Amino acid sequence: MRVHNFSAGPAQLPLPVLEQAASELTDWRGSGMSVLEDSHRAKNFAACAADAEATLRAVAGVPDNYRVLFLSGGATGQFSAIPFNLTAAGGRAAYLNTGQWSAKAIEEARRQHVEVEVLADEAASSYTTTPAPGSYTVPAEAAYLHYTPNETIGGVEFPDVPEAGDVPLVADFSSSYLSRPLDVRRYGVIYGGCQKNLGPAGLAVLIVREDLLDRARPDVPAIWDWKVMAATDSMLNTPPTFSIYLLGLILHWIQDTGGLVAMGERNEAKAARLYAAIDGSDFYANPVEPRSRSRMNVPFTLADPALDADFLVGAHEAGLTNLKGHRSVGGMRASIYNAMSDEGVNALIDYMADFERTRA
Ligand code: PMP
Repeated sequence: MRVHNFSAGPAQLPLPVLEQAASELTDWRGSGMSVLEDSHRAKNFAACAADAEATLRAVAGVPDNYRVLFLSGGATGQFSAIPFNLTAAGGRAAYLNTGQWSAKAIEEARRQHVEVEVLADEAASSYTTTPAPGSYTVPAEAAYLHYTPNETIGGVEFPDVPEAGDVPLVADFSSSYLSRPLDVRRYGVIYGGCQKNLGPAGLAVLIVREDLLDRARPDVPAIWDWKVMAATDSMLNTPPTFSIYLLGLILHWIQDTGGLVAMGERNEAKAARLYAAIDGSDFYANPVEPRSRSRMNVPFTLADPALDADFLVGAHEAGLTNLKGHRSVGGMRASIYNAMSDEGVNALIDYMADFERTRA
């Protein structure tokens, strides 16, 4: 039996994708071997990677003057690569701090000798807010403006795209990648780990405007150098082939289920139902300001934390797993990424109502 898996990542994957992967695991495209066993230089895999990129371009509407890179090292690797690729040592960059992942990106930029200007710091609200448009000014001399559209731990999501003027906007989309339509042209760099919305762990996808490929420091390690990776079609070394293959299957699944417009509508509706259930109860609460509530990660607390353990045991018995909140926040967190079905969210809402009725 498949459970409804609310893990924050690695996370639930679409069943049709898993079934396809299972069906072709031992004999992939008539090759007599699995994709796991073929050379990354082989014809079959080259076609597979090219198809994943073409499908990403079609699904996300990536313009021709942007390069798509398939990278290892997760989003964390890019926390280091971004300063290396976009600033000289001692250069300035602007960051918005809306949670623990923004804070990690900032910390890493400082380690890479960037003079970081934090234009908005939501630590004061315990990371329950995003800065209002117009509440900060991006310095024209900043090499880039970095922000985290969706903070996975706090469950905080920007309702709009920050205005950066001519300063390249860099966005860590790890936990909201392709969860709704986006206008790639507004960004200099889009990146994120794939293990929430786009596949298994081990792969980061980066979309970068071509003119930004000329800014790397001369001493950037080749593996972190976007220009080198672009010139080698992301195959400077052996890429995570299975993750790229699964990414391709997931992108086709997004396309086949109506693309990003339909995905955005489904995600909006799932989140709205769950927040309505939380708000309609005196037993459950979510701390995030309504305009900045995440459609992907929904943290909530029980009125009596002594009931947390019982809530989790009962949920597990009902086939609802991985609902324990992040250790730094406590309570619960339901991650409802693209692959979370309506049935999964409805089952959670029903379970919450039952638990409140019988235990509150
Ligand atoms: N940014 C965000 C928003 C994340 O949620 C995560 C992982 N949970 C990361 C960065 C770090 O990603 P990775 O583990 O792929 O390095």
